[in-house]
Amino acid sequence: MSMVSRLQKGNVGDGGHPPFSTRPNWIDIDLAALDHNVSVARSLLQPGTRIHACVKSSAYGCDVVEVSKRFHSVGVEALCCGTYEEAVAIRAALPKAQLIMFGAALPDGVSDYLKHGLTPTIHNLELAQAVSKHSAGPTKIHIKVDSGWGRLGFPLPLAKPSILRIARMPRIEIEAVYTHLPFTDASGRSYAQQRTTAFCEFIEDLRREGLTIPITQARASNAVMMGLIDNCNAIAAGSILYGKSSARRDMADFSQLRPVLKCVRSKLIHVLPDYPGKTVGRTTGTHGRPTPLFSGTTGVIPFGRRDGYASATAGQTAYVLVRGQRAPVLAVNSELSVIDLSQVDDPRIGEEVVVMGEGLSDTITLDEIAKWQAAGLTDVLVRMSGRTPRVFHG
Ligand SMILES: *Cc1c(COP(=O)(O)O)cnc(C)c1O
Repeated sequence: MSMVSRLQKGNVGDGGHPPFSTRPNWIDIDLAALDHNVSVARSLLQPGTRIHACVKSSAYGCDVVEVSKRFHSVGVEALCCGTYEEAVAIRAALPKAQLIMFGAALPDGVSDYLKHGLTPTIHNLELAQAVSKHSAGPTKIHIKVDSGWGRLGFPLPLAKPSILRIARMPRIEIEAVYTHLPFTDASGRSYAQQRTTAFCEFIEDLRREGLTIPITQARASNAVMMGLIDNCNAIAAGSILYGKSSARRDMADFSQLRPVLKCVRSKLIHVLPDYPGKTVGRTTGTHGRPTPLFSGTTGVIPFGRRDGYASATAGQTAYVLVRGQRAPVLAVNSELSVIDLSQVDDPRIGEEVVVMGEGLSDTITLDEIAKWQAAGLTDVLVRMSGRTPRVFHG
């Protein structure tokens, strides 16, 4: 089964199905891979552990509404949202799902959350007071504790009196207390384990004070993959459910995960044969300097920086696949990119170009693109999904 995403204005032209002849770029989303990754995550968890699936950052580039519907259908217990607008769109599709709002709001924004049945993250007393004031009846909140990351949350050493105070506020029901400790390497792992243990001791301390927290959560993707130990009953995961990890590859077996944002593709809109004295503007930022000579056939795809692509950093060469073969990217401009086709026999306008994903005999991986661009994996995905139509499979 495949289905086409809601399409951006200006991209429709060929009966509503990508690839459009007007700008032939498209992204393949593999929803069956999402199901698979959820079951991989479940297999690593104690039975009964809740999965709070993160759909922030446009569901890591995969489309919030379609992805949320799929997560819900495979039984994830809650969805963690990045923006109010996205949460409202998810709520329209999933009236009953639990939608947790990650931190983003001012106290004044809380009443909008409550109107749509969104569960606010409370990371300061002002937010808790706003919930208490605007709620009509008992309202579930999730409290965030900062266990050392130094961003949002009640700092662990100071959190107890605040949480006990919130517990006494009218119309407030503390459903969860959570923390976030991202890491990618071995020293990060041992720090995260130590802080996770401190977080669990804190939860135990609250219990001794008479406050039992129904849902507790400290682990995100890498902590799950690397088997960090806690006695919480929920995880909040994004990356692994989308089939990727920012962790060093030698730290766990990631081979069982399958990418959900599977392929980014384009087509050659122009082919320029070799000719004596041919020059190609290789990189941006060299305007005003002589355009370098180039010998060989080149081609152009309508996929540039505005589509979220980026030049390779100094010393790196980016590649795309043409007929399954690697072809170097010579220039990434705002709306277009220039490809070296000198190794492709008689390339034709309209031929498919794989920017990311599997071609006939080779694959351009997300890890490679992130390395070429010196960027984070999620950043690469989110940028490339900004204005390119998506096709959903599975
Ligand atoms: C993004 C996020 C997560 C998920 O992180 P992954 O590494 O993608 O699993 C969990 N908790 C919070 C607070 C986050 O912002």
